[in-house]
Amino acid sequence: MRYAILGMGAAGIAAAEAIRAHDSGGEIVCISFESDGYYSRPGLAYYLSKEMGKRSLYPMSDRDFSDRQIKKYHNLAVRLDTVNNEILLSDGKRLRYDKALLALGAEAVVPDLEGVNLKGVVYLDSMARTREMIDLARRHKRAVVVGGGITALELAEGLAARRVRVDYFLRGDRYWNRVLDEMESGLIIQRLKHEGVQVHFNTEVGEIVGKRGQVNAVRTTDGRLFKTNLVGLAIGVRPRLDLARVSGLTVNRGVIVDEFLQTSAPQVWAAGDVAEVVDPDSGRGVVDSLWPVARQQGRVAGLNMAGIRTEYHRRSPLNVTRLAGLTTTIIGQVGTESNNGDDLTIVRGESETWQRTPEAVICQNVEDINRVRVMVAQNKLVGAVVMGDQALSRPLDDLISNEANIAPIRDRLTAPGADISKIIRPFWENWRRNNADQEP
Ligand SMILES: Cc1cc2nc3c(=O)[nH]c(=O)nc-3n(C[C@H](O)[C@H](O)[C@H](O)COP(=O)(O)OP(=O)(O)OC[C@H]3O[C@@H](n4cnc5c(N)ncnc54)[C@H](O)[C@@H]3O)c2cc1C
Repeated sequence: MRYAILGMGAAGIAAAEAIRAHDSGGEIVCISFESDGYYSRPGLAYYLSKEMGKRSLYPMSDRDFSDRQIKKYHNLAVRLDTVNNEILLSDGKRLRYDKALLALGAEAVVPDLEGVNLKGVVYLDSMARTREMIDLARRHKRAVVVGGGITALELAEGLAARRVRVDYFLRGDRYWNRVLDEMESGLIIQRLKHEGVQVHFNTEVGEIVGKRGQVNAVRTTDGRLFKTNLVGLAIGVRPRLDLARVSGLTVNRGVIVDEFLQTSAPQVWAAGDVAEVVDPDSGRGVVDSLWPVARQQGRVAGLNMAGIRTEYHRRSPLNVTRLAGLTTTIIGQVGTESNNGDDLTIVRGESETWQRTPEAVICQNVEDINRVRVMVAQNKLVGAVVMGDQALSRPLDDLISNEANIAPIRDRLTAPGADISKIIRPFWENWRRNNADQEP
């Protein structure tokens, strides 16, 4: 039995590990077009900001691969021949498979902008591109960063940490308005400014101006000129769908999979940033761009490939991230813009679920830089944003993802001036004792 895994990221490796745990004899081949192999993609932000060395971004050594009998193959896959079970590679070779997984991830969106192909336009997207950016940041001391989500902020902070003066462009009048509320955005921007980043609201790039093939300036749509040699773009990502499309698989915004993560083609599964799964709550197809989700989907796909029939259960998407130095946990539906429902741009490290504005009462506590916002629906919690002190992250994640019945505390929680921590903590402790058996 040969298992071919296209992609050597979080989803691909989790699948390979799950297969190996249940099939000690099958051949597992992991294919990646990146010569860097398997590394932590979220870790790139910490590599850029100098908080992590490059070596610590590689969770598995060559020895780990050989111990698990997972073969690494550096090549670009271009098509699946699903009739003859073969993968066509860019050098003309063909690789036969019995079962295949598409774990091809997503790539940064390149906007249709004058000058976008000039040297000096950079993306925080892969190890190769991050290395290139670090190299350019040694020589150039001014950058323009564009984008409204986590990656744009990481780009701005990372370059600032490398002593580059950063002009950060935001299209609207606040940061990440699809997910954060006004106060949360304000807190992040305040801290970002403190780190020396120049923030420009309501500012859009009109053109990237070049000189001898290199970025020389950015002209905004309202005619302002910013001299710079670096432009960091983080306006969204796009699942890598070309291979699935030319291979005749059913594709929408991602590769469509069923509850066992199987695609429309026989013996082909998909997982991670490339896959579109059905969200059981809304019944809609969703694409997440989250590391733990990619791992979980990879594991489920791997089990199914190894013959262990396993349904994928989408839990409330959670991310613990750092925004302008402030640890922030985002869980479930927290969108605050009532008209944002259809703006489902996929942004790295983000879940589409977060953008949804639930029918819920918002209760919040603010104390210094610590802030908790909880979305309270009829008898359950549906979302939360925890900034700073993380003591409530785990309780809120448990209560939200398990849809705990919060009827006993709802009135107290939604009363003006309620102390969320004092209400949630004892309730969760009690809930946990009663539900100890059901916890994963
Ligand atoms: C800067 C940054 C910060 C992030 N921060 C967070 C965060 O805070 N929290 C979080 O949860 N997530 C975060 N993410 C997102 C997270 O990294 C992704 O969700 C996760 O890596 C997806 O895993 P994947 O296996 O689906 O795809 P990827 O990790 O993208 O792997 C795709 C693999 O497919 C290979 N490949 C693609 N096409 C081909 C082809 N045609 N032939 C051969 N090989 C191919 C690639 O080389 C790669 O090995 C961040 C990402 C970035 C870049």
